Amino acid sequence: MADYQLTLAHLYGDLMNTYGDYGNIIALRYYARQIGVTIEDQLVSLGDDFDPKAYDFVLFGGGQDYEETVVAADLQDKAAGLKNYIEADGPLLAVCGGFQLLGHYMEMADGSRVEGIGVMDHYTSNMTAAEVATKKGERLTGDIEIKNNETGEVYHGFENHQGRTFLGKGEKALGTVTKGQGNNGMDQSEGVIYHNVFGSYFHGPIFTRNGNLAKRVLATALSRKYPDVDWSAKLAAVPTESF
Ligand code: GLN
Repeated sequence: MADYQLTLAHLYGDLMNTYGDYGNIIALRYYARQIGVTIEDQLVSLGDDFDPKAYDFVLFGGGQDYEETVVAADLQDKAAGLKNYIEADGPLLAVCGGFQLLGHYMEMADGSRVEGIGVMDHYTSNMTAAEVATKKGERLTGDIEIKNNETGEVYHGFENHQGRTFLGKGEKALGTVTKGQGNNGMDQSEGVIYHNVFGSYFHGPIFTRNGNLAKRVLATALSRKYPDVDWSAKLAAVPTESF
């Protein structure tokens, strides 16, 4: 029996799960199991309350434009709880559509605007001003590679998005693009770090392909709940997988 346990909320896991984003949970569980930690995941979806005190980790996956409109309407009721969770340094992974909806708004491929919850300061346009001027603004699709500026770690993934996201106050990029497009195809930023929120356009899923990031985020979640254990040291002894 494991001595330690994390409870994870899979936010709209039934609607926002592009390219198997659930695999991020499987990856976390894979590393957690090797250090005696169990992870229980709970679906938190339409009409459910989000209790910021009930969770040690939140996954908010990607989705297509239609699903994002459905989720965005419901998400307004969870905004206060999520803000509370994020500002209290709750760890959260937001992928693609989930990343977009934590910001102020996202414009869908057809240009119509969907309100996010603005608990983070980024916004997402469907085209940059230059693209509007040239009437060219293709989807940002393909393999992507970034370098994390603090650790020097290189992360690999696959991106497929129309939205061009621009980071705002207090937000720094998850990494600098070395191959591919990233948040907006313009400023070489990819993803976001804000408190303990990690946002990214990477599918793959990101934790499966980048075990070093999975371990880092897992250590963050465990250290918040069980501060007396050196989780980074425990995880350093576990081999890092990259699939
Ligand atoms: N619908 C959003 C976009 O195209 C997000 C897509 C996704 O989550 N893969 O920008």
